[in-house]
Amino acid sequence: MSPNYYRHDVLILGSGAAGLSLALRLRDDISVAVVSKRELTEGSTRYAQGGISAVLDERDSIESHVQDTLKAGAGLCDPEVVRRVVERGPDNIRWLLDQGVEFTRDAEYVSAGGYHLTREGGHSHRRVVHAADATGQAVATTLEDCVRSKANVTLYEQHIAVDLITSRHIQGHDQHRCLGAYILDRGTGQVETFLTRFVVLATGGANKVYLYTSNPDVSTGDGIAMAWRAGCRVANMEFMQFHPTCLYHPEARNFLISEALRGEGAKLLLPDGERFMPRFDPRAELAPRDIVARAIDHEMKRLGSECLYLDISHRPADFVVEHFPTIHARCLEFGIDITRDPIPIVPAAHYTCGGVMVDHRARTDLAGLYASGETAYTGLHGANRMASNSLLECLVYSESAAQDIEQLMSGHEAPSEVPHWDESRVTEPDEEVVVTHNWDELRRFMWDYVGIVRTNKRLRRAKRRTDLLAQEIIEYYSNFRVGNDLIELRNLQEVSNLIIQSALRRRESRGLHYTLDFPLKDRTQRGPTILIPDSYQPRESE
Ligand SMILES: Cc1cc2nc3c(=O)[nH]c(=O)nc-3n(C[C@H](O)[C@H](O)[C@H](O)COP(=O)(O)OP(=O)(O)OC[C@H]3O[C@@H](n4cnc5c(N)ncnc54)[C@H](O)[C@@H]3O)c2cc1C
Repeated sequence: MSPNYYRHDVLILGSGAAGLSLALRLRDDISVAVVSKRELTEGSTRYAQGGISAVLDERDSIESHVQDTLKAGAGLCDPEVVRRVVERGPDNIRWLLDQGVEFTRDAEYVSAGGYHLTREGGHSHRRVVHAADATGQAVATTLEDCVRSKANVTLYEQHIAVDLITSRHIQGHDQHRCLGAYILDRGTGQVETFLTRFVVLATGGANKVYLYTSNPDVSTGDGIAMAWRAGCRVANMEFMQFHPTCLYHPEARNFLISEALRGEGAKLLLPDGERFMPRFDPRAELAPRDIVARAIDHEMKRLGSECLYLDISHRPADFVVEHFPTIHARCLEFGIDITRDPIPIVPAAHYTCGGVMVDHRARTDLAGLYASGETAYTGLHGANRMASNSLLECLVYSESAAQDIEQLMSGHEAPSEVPHWDESRVTEPDEEVVVTHNWDELRRFMWDYVGIVRTNKRLRRAKRRTDLLAQEIIEYYSNFRVGNDLIELRNLQEVSNLIIQSALRRRESRGLHYTLDFPLKDRTQRGPTILIPDSYQPRESE
């Protein structure tokens, strides 16, 4: 019996802030599929601590938020995009409130509607709404509740997209267009064929390419790799943001120690207790993230130390527990009482500034394909993302994508059929160790050679390794039945290659890209790094 097709109007790959807000914004008469490779809320959104930036206070201004973002982006932001996103901020926060997100209140902030605003690195005003130190949890669970009760949305959890289906898969299709996706049901092991009018990549970032990351396991750059294979351009992949302070403990995976601790006076210490940041920057612990991460990386390499320390124990215990309840509780689980003990930390890959190129409607180079959230490159972040601007970007671009899809809906039909996933020539994998070994090797050499401080020699060394890995993965992929780990490894390899290629092209140090070979900023290199796949075709106007 031939397998079924899964048919919907819109297929959204990913269920973070970008994916779920888009699903909720689409009209009720549009049939929507949301695909999530684990359970619905497992993604970076859920782990966001700090908050979401928007101009809500009368002492603040759009202009000030725009200027702060441009400054953080080190000359590479698209000023038009920055202004558009910042202007849409207040409405998008109201939209979240309408969905039921409970941000922390404070009656003193009258002009901000009684919501407490915090201030983070790079922001010259208090403009970050938050839900204590677990904003992402509040956003993710509220959007989850809303989407679960929406009748036009079908949720496919534990399903992982393997590749996009484009008109190249069928003969005689005139317009170059995205038609759906092949999706592995992790429960049954079957690859299903989804046919839709529009596909949205909302698959998050690619920070799992690095050994240490603040991100959950799902952040393997799948959307970027799939779009690249389907012929879309990607940009600015050299700008990977490293968060200076992740908890270092053998059993703690990916736990971030928010920069709000440093905002409240926490000091960074060497293992012997010496405070070192004043040696690197007059702003000391409050210097921008990239400077703090580089200083920690430098000291760890100099001392051969596995971690350094962050200490807030000089503040009153009540204050620490009240302001940082999640961090306090999580550290206690590992025997660290942050009201008394310094916290062991390492820097970790945190945010992917680059991604799939989109226009202001979130359209990619391929008709019918959109991208929103961390998987997209919009031009907002430039060479460095300012704290709390990323959730805002998810909301604004998903709002735009929803509007554009609704406008174009009547003009496009999904194809009636395409070839199903062909498994006739593959067998069960014989040596899973190939996959696990390559996962570990890739993340280790990306950390060592393509991390916080780079050189051309190290980048070329990493390039040789990704090229070798590519051969092995293609061979494995062509001969054996696909599984979750292999799909992710293939994407990690693809994205690592894009990061390395982009880093080699940028012959200067700017924002998050720091290379010892070109330690200064070069004023002539003020454009994004754009990589164009062989299969790229300029998009026809619609
Ligand atoms: C610890 C931490 C703290 C942060 N704090 C803040 C903050 O305070 N403020 C802020 O603005 N930003 C913060 N960020 C960044 C921000 O959280 C992310 O940029 C944002 O949540 C990304 O949302 P998203 O919807 O694009 O992706 P995600 O929330 O990562 O969701 C990605 C989704 O895609 C799914 N997926 C991935 N690949 C596939 C596939 N192949 N098939 C099917 N599904 C797939 C995943 O399962 C998941 O559902 C933080 C990030 C981290 C990790």
